[in-house]
Amino acid sequence: MTSTQLLISFTEKCGITPITQAQAHKLLRFGELVLDTNKLFNLVGDVDMDTMLSKHIADSLAGAKYVGEHKRVLDVGTGAGFPGMPLAIALPHVQFTLMDATEKKIHFIASAVKELGLTNVTPVCARAEEAALSKYRESFDGVISRAVAPMVRLCEYTVPFIKVGGRLLAYKGPRIHEEYTNSDEGLKRLGAVRSDIISLPSLNNETEHLLALVNKVSPTPKSFPRTNAQIMKKPLW
Ligand code: SAH
Repeated sequence: MTSTQLLISFTEKCGITPITQAQAHKLLRFGELVLDTNKLFNLVGDVDMDTMLSKHIADSLAGAKYVGEHKRVLDVGTGAGFPGMPLAIALPHVQFTLMDATEKKIHFIASAVKELGLTNVTPVCARAEEAALSKYRESFDGVISRAVAPMVRLCEYTVPFIKVGGRLLAYKGPRIHEEYTNSDEGLKRLGAVRSDIISLPSLNNETEHLLALVNKVSPTPKSFPRTNAQIMKKPLW
């Protein structure tokens, strides 16, 4: 099976309308752009195209069915664009904002968006806990994030961005269960409650991939998010 066919059949497995050849080509081209830029400065560690496909591109697409239920989605700590870029290629009807605190990563994403001709991606260089106090507050119906922080910090960074009725979709591994211990009260303070933990498909079935859903049920008090120093020093749970 070619990489193009592999990606098309994987999107079927993910439960979304299978991507077209053109979308599969864009996904592969994006993978190449990441690997090329990775030679200049570290974006994804030491990986080859096979790992890029399975660990980054397919893993990002794995949650597409759930992310595709939203209109306006923010990816917090997107790094080289995961999971936001593959999702934006596969879900052209969804508007994505990709946020990261590192300028050169956002610069890379902006140039990839241009080269791939994507019209549904806005890259933003900002720290989440600062941007959540600005115009971005409570303005997304979905927030996604992968490999940024344990749930307790991730929720304080992300829940303020979510509109009431929207949700956080956190890409997590099996440790999510520990990360949730004693979280109910802290989540309530942010205006959120735990929802489902969904098992996602993967390309090589190595580790368990989970999508932890958190529902926003009431506005987040103005006192959140706190400064990063406070978030680190006094976690909510
Ligand atoms: N989501 C990507 C990158 C994970 S690495 C992936 O799964 O491959 C974590 C990224 O989060 C880094 O690029 C870092 O710059 C960013 N980050 C960490 N804390 C952040 C914060 N408070 N606000 C914005 N970005 C943050």
